[in-house]
Amino acid sequence: MTTLLDPLDLEPGKAVVDEVPLWIGGTATTSAAGRVEDDISPSTGELLAKVHVAARADIDRAVEAAKAAQPAWARLTLVERGARLKELARRIRAKAEEFGRLDARDGGTAFQSMQAGAHKGAAYLELIAGVGPELHGRTIPATSGLHFTEPAPWGIVGAICAYNHPTLFTCMKMAPALMAGNALILKPAVQTPLSPLAVAALSEDLLPPGIFNVVAGGAETGEAIVTHPDILRISFTGSLPTGRRVYAGASQSGQFKSVTLELGGKNPIVIYPDVDPGTAAAAIIKGTNFARVGGQSCGATSRLLLHESLHDEVLERVVADTAAIKLGIPDDPATEMGCMVSHAHRDRVLSMIGDAREDGARLLVGGGRPENRPDLDAGAFVEPTVFDGVDPSARLFREEVFGPVLGVTTWTDEQEALRLANDTEYGLTASIWCNDIDRALNAARTIDAGYIWVNDVEVRYPGVPFGGWKQSGLGLELGLVDDILSHTRSKSINVGLSARPL
Ligand code: NAD
Repeated sequence: MTTLLDPLDLEPGKAVVDEVPLWIGGTATTSAAGRVEDDISPSTGELLAKVHVAARADIDRAVEAAKAAQPAWARLTLVERGARLKELARRIRAKAEEFGRLDARDGGTAFQSMQAGAHKGAAYLELIAGVGPELHGRTIPATSGLHFTEPAPWGIVGAICAYNHPTLFTCMKMAPALMAGNALILKPAVQTPLSPLAVAALSEDLLPPGIFNVVAGGAETGEAIVTHPDILRISFTGSLPTGRRVYAGASQSGQFKSVTLELGGKNPIVIYPDVDPGTAAAAIIKGTNFARVGGQSCGATSRLLLHESLHDEVLERVVADTAAIKLGIPDDPATEMGCMVSHAHRDRVLSMIGDAREDGARLLVGGGRPENRPDLDAGAFVEPTVFDGVDPSARLFREEVFGPVLGVTTWTDEQEALRLANDTEYGLTASIWCNDIDRALNAARTIDAGYIWVNDVEVRYPGVPFGGWKQSGLGLELGLVDDILSHTRSKSINVGLSARPL
């Protein structure tokens, strides 16, 4: 089949391919129900491809293929499984530019960021392959016999992805699941199904048929995975409302499942008065993730809690830097910020901007669709936007926008700042900027979030576990050996000495 990565197919103005199939049992195949949906580029409105949507019968087929292949895959040595993942990483790196273009056109985010995502995904495959042989159980000297634990694969892992980093998330879901000896059924986000299929095509001669399956589709396809009685490990990345449905669906499936949920955030960045204003402004801009992904990042810091003494100087710089961000067609390498993933999502972001105005926040920059940019008219573009004076009761303070909107709230009392930092149902990330290490550490320990930066922001470090507290999720990713372990279940084996009387 086409790899979807042919440079000719990636030229702007062309459909990527006519039809994008499912990938089941190591081969391209069509949807059992014959459902094919249009995949539209959000930046131009052009038709990119017609995508086959997996029905429940397709999930059943993928499960059968996975069941047939998984035992032999699990019998390969860790080093052998790792070698396959390393080779896949090499192939993805070699095509990182093409993956960048594919994701930029499919999801609307800037090419540079998507190309970097392909490299990060390849790096995670390599890292997991490298540490894989460290996977081990324990021996426990409970008696004079032998007592040990073995990490055993679950069998089949069902992974459901969010839309914002298609190639990276495919690698992040794949690496630990396969290294642990499982087969994987991966459902890309409905808006960005192309690069996961491209990864599948690259893996055709590397992975045994059935070990890696890609089934595009929306909620119905996701539900078929979550409720399937033979898929016992679910790895979900997406929004809080969908995460709740996934958790409920898994519990109603008739099986006890291991579920990890990587959900949304309304993440604070807290600036103390002793921070240099230029440093603070740069951190605030970087944390928003406006450039690169238009704020469509779960870990982006979207609530600025700024000490009153820095208000004017810091915001003057933040506004100037925000206004300078270069909006453009995502696959243009000069573009710093592309568009929202869909026109529907753009309208949701614009409605939240409208609500922020009604709630009394003061618009400092942005606030709508870009003006005098005919080249962007057909796309789902929103200007990067900053509001000052956001009240803690306002929707903008409490709800995830998942778009380029920063809300500023000023504080004078440290206890109040930390109370505000915790005053949402989310708890994914937080960034604290403070030159007094005692205060900074106290803040880090007081804020109820799973991933905290002190005098740092935005970067996620492989090897440092990432996951949400409160309504931001359950479980961890990125923890290398721990990530592999979380795709296994532990079995305890007790061996009595044969000479020992019972
Ligand atoms: P979404 O919840 O709309 O969709 C996520 C995935 O779930 C998609 O593949 C979708 O098709 C699928 N889905 C939808 N309904 C389903 C159902 N009933 N059962 C099973 N699957 C279903 O999220 P999105 O808009 O794709 O992504 C944005 C959200 O993801 C944001 O909230 C963002 O913060 C979050 N996110 C979290 C992380 C993290 O690591 N914590 C990373 C990226 C994105």
